[in-house]
Amino acid sequence: MTFDRRLDLLADHHVHSTFSDDAQSTLAENVSAARALGLRELRLVDHVRTSTTWVPEFLGAVAALDRLADAGPVAVLSGVEAKILDARGTLDLPPEIATGMLRVGRILIADHQYPGIDGPLSPGTVLERRAAGWPASDVLDGLVHATILAMKSVDNAQLAHLFSLLPKIGLTEDDLDDDHLTTLASAAAATGTAVEVNEKWGCPGPRSLRVMREAGVRLVASTDSHQCGDVGRYRRVVALADEAGLGTIPGDKESTPAPWSDPISGDRLDNRAGQVADPASR
Ligand SMILES: [Zn+2]
Ligand SMILES: [Zn+2]
Repeated sequence: MTFDRRLDLLADHHVHSTFSDDAQSTLAENVSAARALGLRELRLVDHVRTSTTWVPEFLGAVAALDRLADAGPVAVLSGVEAKILDARGTLDLPPEIATGMLRVGRILIADHQYPGIDGPLSPGTVLERRAAGWPASDVLDGLVHATILAMKSVDNAQLAHLFSLLPKIGLTEDDLDDDHLTTLASAAAATGTAVEVNEKWGCPGPRSLRVMREAGVRLVASTDSHQCGDVGRYRRVVALADEAGLGTIPGDKESTPAPWSDPISGDRLDNRAGQVADPASR
């Protein structure tokens, strides 16, 4: 089974609108910006909590934009972004979404706070507890374990800005051991969870991305834009993809296609340039 596994930069899988308190552009403005850039996929995503009530209205508006004839070739997709609340991987989702009664395109799992045993811990609290002797390895075990449980709790997940929490709690991705990354990557592959390469936060790093790619995880580009001028514009994502050897669409004609894997067999299929579709021909 062969298909193009390069990172698609003609898509943006994490774009906020005025349904989020902290974003400036309307859903329609984001769609216009995506169309102007020639994007093929746009995932409109807003922040939710357990108490959020506007999701049906949001989904109706996204579906209407996707149906609009002048939306052209842009597929307009939906998502909600929810933080992991605790060590059990509970997500801060409205109950109708958590139970699957209301379907959204993707549920973005976010590390906005640390998922503690009894609930979310602010980065400041984690720093205090670390100073009082909480070992980094235990902190990281807890974060990775809660993220895996959260992925397993829904069937259409996407990891938003994975590991963006680490610098806020005095750690980096270098503090993760190989087991953390391979366990997380195999859980993402097994649950069909997509993992973002995120422009706003510049994460996850090349080492994590290589492990995800090897495990057959679907990697998606996202800006995490909060205003439409940022939709689909990638700089850090391109650098991360280059460093991780992911290859991108549109591709650089001078560069060699990245090694890639067949997610079914796990075999590495290096240098299959002849079998990679030319994005210009699509
Ligand atoms: Zn976020
Ligand atoms: Zn976001």
